[in-house]
Amino acid sequence: MAHSTPASARLIAGNWKMNGGAGQLREAAKVAAALAGKIGGPRVAICPPATLLHRLSEQLRGSGVLTGGQDCHVEAAGAFTGDISADLLVEAGARLAILGHSERRQGHGESDALVARKAQAASDVGLEPIVCVGETLIEREGGRALEVVRRQLRGSLPPGLAGRAFAIAYEPVWAIGTGARASEDDIVEMHRAIRAELMNLTSHGGRVSILYGGSVTADGAAAILAAPEVGGVLVGGASLRAESFLAIIEAAER
Ligand code: PEP
Repeated sequence: MAHSTPASARLIAGNWKMNGGAGQLREAAKVAAALAGKIGGPRVAICPPATLLHRLSEQLRGSGVLTGGQDCHVEAAGAFTGDISADLLVEAGARLAILGHSERRQGHGESDALVARKAQAASDVGLEPIVCVGETLIEREGGRALEVVRRQLRGSLPPGLAGRAFAIAYEPVWAIGTGARASEDDIVEMHRAIRAELMNLTSHGGRVSILYGGSVTADGAAAILAAPEVGGVLVGGASLRAESFLAIIEAAER
């Protein structure tokens, strides 16, 4: 698949991270209103803080805009203070779950093996995992970006995902929240390498969406989305305001 992904097969996912009180729900309402009645566009998802997940899922019910969690525990229930299970995400209305985000890998010491267990737990209850991978600046400058991301992929994808819906988000750590974006050439090179690895790892590796994430804004989104093997984008900061998120969704509609 060396051509750009059709609009309807793209996934545009917003990661609100630890942002959003009730006022943030108004931004999601504006997104849903602007997309109402449109057909053939990309799949759109918003991943709010866990405290907003149920309210947001209820608010967006029937709108076509999906919701997702930002993490999940590997167990279904139990004495895990502060954690949230995949089952609870589903009960709160989530359809997807971002897993292995670099802010979890770095800030919470999450290993590839743990991310793989989370991806399995999420998939087992019907969530679509978005498994994040990406190199640090030191790794890129040391010429190790491809090797690092291949290793993360091999370690973070459990065999149990074979044939099931999941997506990969390539997010260079140095591009997240910094305003610095990977060049189109580097995105294409990495996405091709990820595709090749996916083909080795799973029978449906040719159909798994590979998203790019890292300082995506409306400006530049169209070029990223038109690149071969880019199946959508994972958007942090620019997903917090309806205007900027909608501009990215519009770029994905073309
Ligand atoms: C992210 O949090 O996954 C992300 C890509 O953030 P930002 O778009 O703000 O760089």
